[in-house]
Amino acid sequence: MFITIDIKRVIKITAVSLLAVLLLLGIKAVSDHGFMAAMNNSDKHTLVLDAGHGGVDGGAVAVSGEKESDINLSLALKAEIIADFLGVETALTRTEDTDGAENGEYSERENLINRVDTVNSVQNAVLISIHQNKFPSSIVSGAEVMYSDNIQSKQLGLITQDNLVSELDKENRRVARKAPTELLLTSSVSCPAILVECGFMSNPDEAIKLSNEQYQTKIATVLIASYIQYINQLSSI
Ligand SMILES: [Zn+2]
Repeated sequence: MFITIDIKRVIKITAVSLLAVLLLLGIKAVSDHGFMAAMNNSDKHTLVLDAGHGGVDGGAVAVSGEKESDINLSLALKAEIIADFLGVETALTRTEDTDGAENGEYSERENLINRVDTVNSVQNAVLISIHQNKFPSSIVSGAEVMYSDNIQSKQLGLITQDNLVSELDKENRRVARKAPTELLLTSSVSCPAILVECGFMSNPDEAIKLSNEQYQTKIATVLIASYIQYINQLSSI
């Protein structure tokens, strides 16, 4: 029978992703303790993918009108497909363009508290919160990872930043840093957690890249590969 364009797209994304994951894992994980060891250990954990913003809260908006919230969701859904393909357990804080507001009254703080509750309700969770950055100057670019104030989060943050630089943008001089305490999500969850700013919506060139399906697949692949690498390192401690 006919395969819809959507399904074709998913298959294509998955195929490209798998290839990319295998390339990444070939370098980073298999050389240590083996892919299967990482997978066995990941059985005990659930990766929570948090697509930042949503609904009335679009987050950072590019000059082209593209919203951060849509890119965040697209990345989370792609990461979920890749994770599922590799047998990595995931949970998502949102799967559609919603702000979760009841009675139509949106509160960013309430929204974040709900996300914290969702993450904390998942056993042995590891959180990757997906965001895009903005800055008054349109020149600024590059992915940046922030981590919660504990050793596991720092480890996941360092791995992810390193992979984002080496696989996506070797010119990126940013380094992973501790998340400011006023970032409610990373300060309030009880599990290892990072917040990934994948790029700058305020940089027109980077905003175009961030909207590109293939580039999104690469980012999603790096996030999942970094998670597996992190889990793999846990198993060696
Ligand atoms: Zn954001």
